Amino acid sequence: MNQGELSVPYPWHAAQWRELDALLRAGTLPHALLLAGAPDIGKFLFARAFASLVLCAEPHGSACGRCRNCRLIAAGSHPDLVLIQPEEQGKAIRIDAIRELREFCAGRPHQGGWRVILIEPAEALNVNAANALLKTLEEPGERTLLILVSHEPGRLTPTVRSRCRLLRLPTPSVAQAGPWLKSQLSGETDVESLLVRAGRRPLRALLLVSGDLAGTFTRLQDLVIAVAEGSVVPAEAAAVTASKHFDTGEALEWLTDFVAARVRATIARGERPPRALFDFFDRLATARREHVANANLNAELAWGEVWQDWRRAVAAGG
Ligand SMILES: [Zn+2]
Repeated sequence: MNQGELSVPYPWHAAQWRELDALLRAGTLPHALLLAGAPDIGKFLFARAFASLVLCAEPHGSACGRCRNCRLIAAGSHPDLVLIQPEEQGKAIRIDAIRELREFCAGRPHQGGWRVILIEPAEALNVNAANALLKTLEEPGERTLLILVSHEPGRLTPTVRSRCRLLRLPTPSVAQAGPWLKSQLSGETDVESLLVRAGRRPLRALLLVSGDLAGTFTRLQDLVIAVAEGSVVPAEAAAVTASKHFDTGEALEWLTDFVAARVRATIARGERPPRALFDFFDRLATARREHVANANLNAELAWGEVWQDWRRAVAAGG
């Protein structure tokens, strides 16, 4: 991805982009923004592009990509931009990284303009890190902008949430995202059905046909069959799905889609889907709610119950 592509948001977020650009021009940008929306719709790209716009010396509706600031950002070495992410995907953000922000915010920005702190995903802030962030959120200092990116804003502590201006980034319609997706894929892919399968999340659609998710889902499918046949016991399956190679939210979503497809296929054959399958479907909905509500959930324990229930559902005719 070149710098030009990094400096503008995806077309389906143009209205939200104009809204922020207007605030920046008017000098009424809040200290802290919370960009919320579904996963895989381009929130992080939006956040990075806006950080570039704020820091760019010669912006024209988006960062110029040529000035000293833009070149420093592209090289990952702009002294007034800090990106905070977990060291490992799915893990919490280290509290040390948040504590170091106070030093970052001391004094004046190096390049004389803004200072930008980008936190992604913000739900990876545990309670201690969130509390440590409060001080920075309350007194960030002059010309300092915090951008928090989250697809689960409900998991942020209310104290953090209430100190941010919420901006919802919408999930595009199939018509909005279709042309872009087509431009990313070679050959005659049916982008419309691909987008529907991906829940209209364009970046997820890309992952479904290429990338890591395709492999993850194949392995999940193998596990579903192995647990049903009894060749893998629920505890073994739980150890695999709770490992760092699996995103619990993604995996639960895939399993839900899988069970829903099984129900539909049974109905299409003119048969009545077994009760056990509906029970398992409800069970997955509960597991997803618990996963979203509880950041400290023991994933292996939770997965152990899910796989056990899947085994029971199969035994009961699911
Ligand atoms: Zn620039």
